[in-house]
Amino acid sequence: MTDLRQDTRDSFAEIFGRDADGVWSAPGRVNLIGEHTDYNEGFVLPLAINRRTVAALGLRDDRIVRVGSSFADELVEIDLADLGPEVLSGWSAYPLGVAWALGEFGADLDAVPGFDVLIDSNVPVGAGLSSSAAIESAVAVALNEVWQLGLDRQTLAKVGQRAENVAVGAPTGIMDQSASLLGERDSVVFLDCRTLDAQVVPLGLEAAGLEMLIIDTGVEHSHATGGYADRRASCEAGAAALGVESLRDVSVADLDRARELLDDVTFRRVRHVVTEDQRVLDTVRTLREHGPAAIGELLDASHRSMRDDFEISVPELDLAVETAQANGAIGARMTGGGFGGSAIALVPSDAMSRVLVALDGAFAEHGFGQPDLFTVSASEGAKREN
Ligand code: ADP
Ligand code: MG
Repeated sequence: MTDLRQDTRDSFAEIFGRDADGVWSAPGRVNLIGEHTDYNEGFVLPLAINRRTVAALGLRDDRIVRVGSSFADELVEIDLADLGPEVLSGWSAYPLGVAWALGEFGADLDAVPGFDVLIDSNVPVGAGLSSSAAIESAVAVALNEVWQLGLDRQTLAKVGQRAENVAVGAPTGIMDQSASLLGERDSVVFLDCRTLDAQVVPLGLEAAGLEMLIIDTGVEHSHATGGYADRRASCEAGAAALGVESLRDVSVADLDRARELLDDVTFRRVRHVVTEDQRVLDTVRTLREHGPAAIGELLDASHRSMRDDFEISVPELDLAVETAQANGAIGARMTGGGFGGSAIALVPSDAMSRVLVALDGAFAEHGFGQPDLFTVSASEGAKREN
């Protein structure tokens, strides 16, 4: 981390020929439980992870904005007067979309100065760990400070979401940005996606002798196309047929009635969301009362629900989960939007090497590409680094 911060500051000076005013960073996230509940105004339980995106930024004395990334060869340049979602595309739509979205939440884009920003990251891209929220949140905290906007973190989360929804064009919820902005060390963020009320809940993995393993299957997912939008539409249709504003308003006890009113596919989509909301609440209670060693079955049940009812898993994710479970993990599930990306497993430290070897072997045996395996810990949210 120290290196990434300093390297980004050094590269900024090299590329822009001046010193940065500051360096900010924001983490990726992994969702412990609560999948596809966010846009149904339900509950999620993500954590900020120890992989971060760094933004070195300096104000200019004109109205030009220039953005660079270690991922791209060229700088993207735009006049603030021309900034709008319709002119943004590619990776720069994330940082420039944030600058535009800040205008939607109170920044006077006709008055603020331009800036140069350089971005680097060690959050894997497209792995379901939300490199997108990390880049949005790093830029959002940086501009909030240098433009002296005084926006709170809940508002900055909405700014990132607006950028992603409108400037990038991906219909995602508020979870990723909230985790990246509100996360704390060794804790999860219990987020009510209706009220945006957020509580930090101690996770206590290390004290329980557990580690969180990420199993990145390497199968690529895309939010902007395909299944994600389709599942979202099913949820909206289910809520409309049940006469509620969102599936948040449906409880497990209502499912019998829902089965009679809905077609089979819509019913199973609804059942996933409704039972998943309940599992989040149960996980929070279990963490508080018994600690993380007691939440394994909730993680396992979440995976089954996504596999069978919501149908967003893929064979690589199922294999990852089953292999981890069979070799000592106390719980495992796919995480993120689905159709690829990563699974998580809670693994006792003394079982970790067995789980790693078993995963490599199982993926090879099935002819799948080797998964990327690494542990993460719960870390602090977006902050100024120096
Ligand atoms: P995920 O959030 O799961 O990693 P997304 O598709 O939501 O996947 O977001 C990934 C996209 O975000 C990348 O394709 C790129 O456009 C942008 N992005 C993320 N990190 C960076 C970075 N450090 N520099 C430039 N663009 C980035
Ligand atoms: Mg993303």
